[in-house]
Amino acid sequence: MIKKTTLNVNSILLCIVFVMCAFSTEAQERTCGMVEYMQEQMKNPEYAKQFKITQAKFKKQLEKNLIGNYNRRVDPIIIPVAVHYPEAQESDRACLEALAQNQIDILNEDFTGTNPDIAGWTAAAPYYPNTNTGAANFLFCIATTNHPIGLDSDMVEGGPAVTIGYNFGNGNETDSNWSGYMNFLVKDIGGGLLGFSPYPGSIANGDSVTMNLGAFGSGAGCPNSGIVPGAPYDLGRTVTHELGHFYNLDHVFGSCSTDDGIADTPNQGNSNGGCPALNSEPACDPTEQELFQSYMDYTNDACMFMFSAGQTTVAEAYVMSIQSTFKPNVVQCSAAPDFDLTTTNSEENICNPTNTAAYTINYVATGGNTDATTFTATNLPPGATASFSPTSLSADGSTQLTLSNLSTLASGNYTITVTGTGITTNSISVDLNVDGAIPTTPSLVSPANSATDTPITLNLDWSPITGATSYTVEMATNTAFTANYTSNVVTNNSFNTPELTSATQYFWRVKSINSCGESSYSATRNFTTASIACVTYNSTENNINIPSTGNTAHVITSTINITSDTTITDLNSTINITHVWAGDMELMLTSPNGTSVIMLVNSKCDDGTDDIAVTYNDQATGPVICSSTAPSVGGIIQPENPLSVFNGESTFGDWILTATDGYPSADGGTFLNYSIEICGTTSLSVDEFSLASSLSLWPNPSQGEINVSFNTQNNDAVNVNLYDLRGRLINKQSFKNTSGVFNKAIQLGDLESSVYILSIENAGQIINKRIIIE
Ligand SMILES: [Zn+2]
Repeated sequence: MIKKTTLNVNSILLCIVFVMCAFSTEAQERTCGMVEYMQEQMKNPEYAKQFKITQAKFKKQLEKNLIGNYNRRVDPIIIPVAVHYPEAQESDRACLEALAQNQIDILNEDFTGTNPDIAGWTAAAPYYPNTNTGAANFLFCIATTNHPIGLDSDMVEGGPAVTIGYNFGNGNETDSNWSGYMNFLVKDIGGGLLGFSPYPGSIANGDSVTMNLGAFGSGAGCPNSGIVPGAPYDLGRTVTHELGHFYNLDHVFGSCSTDDGIADTPNQGNSNGGCPALNSEPACDPTEQELFQSYMDYTNDACMFMFSAGQTTVAEAYVMSIQSTFKPNVVQCSAAPDFDLTTTNSEENICNPTNTAAYTINYVATGGNTDATTFTATNLPPGATASFSPTSLSADGSTQLTLSNLSTLASGNYTITVTGTGITTNSISVDLNVDGAIPTTPSLVSPANSATDTPITLNLDWSPITGATSYTVEMATNTAFTANYTSNVVTNNSFNTPELTSATQYFWRVKSINSCGESSYSATRNFTTASIACVTYNSTENNINIPSTGNTAHVITSTINITSDTTITDLNSTINITHVWAGDMELMLTSPNGTSVIMLVNSKCDDGTDDIAVTYNDQATGPVICSSTAPSVGGIIQPENPLSVFNGESTFGDWILTATDGYPSADGGTFLNYSIEICGTTSLSVDEFSLASSLSLWPNPSQGEINVSFNTQNNDAVNVNLYDLRGRLINKQSFKNTSGVFNKAIQLGDLESSVYILSIENAGQIINKRIIIE
C-alpha cells in the first residue's frame, strides 16, 4: 500500500545500501560513486546487524520527534568536533586551526539555516509550495579539553582538538582513539574526489567525514600545507553535503520510482550541477520543480543554500539517537545568551462588566544569559491598560500580567502581544475573550430521538451556540441521569462517545457554557445501541514459504472470505509466523472496503529475535512490546495503528493479511496462519443499508476535493471526518441533509499526499472509506 507520511520512515529503512558518497572535481558536476564499496560493507554480517540496530534507534527517535513527544530543547545539541590534517605542516598550525574554525562556522550557519545566502529562498519559494527551509538545533564546537593523550604532542589542553601530522586511522577513515568526536579528516584522497562520508556515520566508532585538500573551508586556505579551497566548491559546502550523509540524509535525487524518504523534497530523477535557473528543472511530477537549492543535490557551493524542514528533522533525529555516544566534558562552547517566554494560561474568558484579567508569563534564561529582561504589552483592547509584576526578570521565574479597565469592552476576542526586551527581544501572544451574556440552550441534532440499533460508539451532535466557549454533555441509562451517569465538557458542538454497552438505551442532554454562566439543559433524547455478537474467522491460505534469498521484498498475502454482512464494532487479529529475525516483517490487514491498517511496522522489534505469535487487540493493556526470546512479537498487545478504523464497515467480502519481509536477501520463514475475530451488530437497519449500499466517492485518488453521494431516508446532518492512518482527526465537517439523495463536493483542504480514512456518519450510522490524496 502507499504509506507516505511527512517522512516515510520505511523507505529510509529499506535503503540499506551503505553509500559512501564522493564528489568529483573532474566531472562537469559533482558525482557520487563507490556503490560497489558500500555493498561490500553490507556483506559483513556484523556491519549489517549494527546498521539495522542504528536505524531502529534512529527511527524510534524520529517517530518521537514527529509526534512532538519530547521536550523541545531551548539550548542546542552541542556536537564535539575534532579536525585532522595528517599530511600538513606543524609550522602551519595557526592557519590550520583558523581554517578548521572557518569550516565549523560554515556548518553552524548551514545546519541552522542562518547562512546569509538562505535569503535566496524568498525568490525560489513560490516554485516549491510544499517545501520550507529547515533549521537543526545544532551547535558544532571544536573540543578544547580532555584531549586524547599521546597522539599529537603539539595539541595542548585549552587549545583546539586539531591534529597535524597524526596518522588518523592508520591511513583509513575510522580511528577508535577519536571515538566520541565528530571527526573531519583532511587529506589527499586522489581520484579527483572532493570527499566522502559513511551513510550514516558512527560517532562511537570514531568515523570521519573525509575531505580532499581543495574542498575544506573557504577563503585562501593554508597554501604552505597544500590545503586551498578550489572554485566552484570553495565555500565549505562539500562538508555540509557529506555531513548530511553522516546524519542519515540521502541525496534529493535518485530515480523517479524511489524517493529520499522525505516528503517535502519533490521526487527527483537526476542530479543537478552548476547553477540552474529558477523554474528550469521540472521534477518527476512535472508540476513540481527539482530542489537543486538543497545541500543534498550536486550544484555549485554558491548555488546550494538550504536544507528542507524534512531534511533537518531527519538530521536532528539521527543526532539525538547517537547523542549518548558523544564524549563528555570536551567542549567549552555554549549557545548565545537568550531567553524563552511561555504562558501557563494563554486564554482568559471574562463576563462583562469584569474589570481585570491576569496571565502568568514564564521566563527561562538560556545560554548563560544573566541580563535583565523588561516586559511590555502591546495591541491592547481599546482603553485597556497593562501592568507586570515584577516588571523585569534576570533569572528563571515568572511575571504576572494584569489587564485592567476592561469593564466597558465590547464582547469579542482580543489578542495581546507580550514582549520581553533584554539581551534579545522575544514575544508571545495571549487571548482575551469577553462574553456579554449567558449563552442560549442548545437543541439536539443527531442521532434522531429514539434511534435504535446505533453503533456502540457514535457522535452526539447539537446546534452550535454563539458565544458558548464549551458544552457539558450528560449521558445515563435512566431519565433521572443517575444510572451509569457520565458528564463531559467539550468545546465543539459534537461529542464522540466512548464504547457503550450493546443493546442498551441511553439518555443524553447538553448545556452551553461561557464565563457569564451556564444555559439550562436541552430537551432529553434517547437512543438504543445494537446488540453485538462476536465470530472468529480462520485463514485457509496457510503455511506459505517466505524465502531467505532475493533482491526485492517478499510479499505474502492470505485471504479470508466472509459471506455474512455485519457492521463491525470491534476487530482483533491473531497471527502466527516463524521467521528468523522477526524485525524484518511488516503486517497489514486490509478490509473488503479497502481500509488498511499496519499492525506491525518493519524494524519495530529489530534485535534479531525470531518469530511472531501475537494477538492484536486495541483494548490490550500494553503497547507493542518486543521480546528478546522467541516469539519476538507475542502475547495480546495493541497494534501499531488502531484496528478501530474498521469499526462501522461491513464484514462482507475479502479480508487480506499482507506480510512483507523487507530484508529479502537473508532470513526466511513460514507464514503459518491467522484469524480475525469480529464483533458486530447482527442486522442492518434500512437506513444503514442505504448508506452502505448507495455510497459513491469520486474522484479517488483526488487532489483534495471529493464528491460524496448516497441515498438517505432522514433529515439528520451528515458528518464527514477525515483521519490519517494513525487514527488522528485531520478535518471535521458537518452538512445539512434532507431525505432523498445527499450529494456534495467536499473540500478536504491542503493535505500531504497520503492515504486517509474518510468517515461518513448519518443518523448514527458510520461508513469508513480509504481515500488517496495526491
Ligand atoms: Zn553525496
